[in-house]
Amino acid sequence: MALPEIFSIKKVSCVEGGKVVKNSAIVVDNGIISFVGHQNSAPLQDNDSFNADGWYVSPGFIDLQLNGGYGYDFTENPESIPLVAKRLPETGVVSFLPTFITSPLSKYPQKLVATLSARQTGGNSARVLGAHLEGPFLNPGFPGAHPVSLLCNSTPDRLSMFSPIEAVRMVTLAVELPGGLQAVKWLQDQGVVVSIGHSGATTEEAQQSFSAGVRFVTHVFNAMPPLHHRQPGLIGALLTTHGIRAGLIADAIHCHPVMLELAYRCKGAAEIALVTDAMAAMGMPPGQYSIGGQEVFVDDTSARLRDGKLAGSILSMDQAVRNMVRHTSCSLAEAVQMASAVPADVLGMGDCIGHIKKGYSADIVLMDESLHIQATLVGGQIAFATPEALDKLTQNGG
Ligand code: ZN
Repeated sequence: MALPEIFSIKKVSCVEGGKVVKNSAIVVDNGIISFVGHQNSAPLQDNDSFNADGWYVSPGFIDLQLNGGYGYDFTENPESIPLVAKRLPETGVVSFLPTFITSPLSKYPQKLVATLSARQTGGNSARVLGAHLEGPFLNPGFPGAHPVSLLCNSTPDRLSMFSPIEAVRMVTLAVELPGGLQAVKWLQDQGVVVSIGHSGATTEEAQQSFSAGVRFVTHVFNAMPPLHHRQPGLIGALLTTHGIRAGLIADAIHCHPVMLELAYRCKGAAEIALVTDAMAAMGMPPGQYSIGGQEVFVDDTSARLRDGKLAGSILSMDQAVRNMVRHTSCSLAEAVQMASAVPADVLGMGDCIGHIKKGYSADIVLMDESLHIQATLVGGQIAFATPEALDKLTQNGG
């Protein structure tokens, strides 16, 4: 169902900038937010005005790390990206980085071409903002579910396999490996966001890479040495350095809830990006799945290799938001910020996506009181809606 070119949604609690403002209205004009404010001062009072009866309206969620979902694994089957993009709005996700785990170097061009073509597909799907390459330049001491035999140090020749480079939005690498800092510089020169992950970096090595311009850490606490009081390592450097943001898998499996609280207290909402790190089993029943060709066994809460190692998650982004509210002292508005504004900032896109503000793309989520997704709009059009939300969005509320 198509919404009118210009419409308003009234009687919403607007979640923006770490705050909730009740009795709000927003107006969308040709896919762009043209008004946010009190419902009584909204320019459209009658026609094409929908009444959301107190639901929350928030910026759509942005997932910086998603390996697949709904039965598809991007690393094995990059052609599945548009199929997953079609369904992600069910979880409030409006934009994402399809993430490829460590693969043979010769396989990267095919994955990146598929990413580029998925970026073109519009129409009621989550937007593909480019690929996140996690590996192959990772520390073999902290491989997680990555195949150790394919991990390597970065060299200019190997970096040239990341082609077409314009499809690459983010690369996770271990900065302490030989060639690590040169790779950081080369990638940044190409406009790629570099993140430290699967790393055994010392505090000093981490700080050195921050000085070299690295501003993000991939799934903090996972695939890195734990915080030690004499060797605080990457985690110590991250938690004590202002301006460095971290991805956090808030499924309460990858990290104990106390560590979610620790990350929140040290970094604050403005420096945590919720990521799902979800794999093929997200949105699917328990059973046997795969990631990058390896068998993964999935139960009700986790996805693991045969040896018990975690192999991505089955977390959805809306669940991550609910988990942060449940397990930490952060507010709903802060949890939403971690799922929207912060990832937009990580990508340097905070001036066009990730907010409910005038001039921003109308990539928005309607949530009920229990923080379940009722509708997701991408560019002002319905990408997902429950029957109840469809009812509200088709009946002029006046
Ligand atoms: Zn990882």
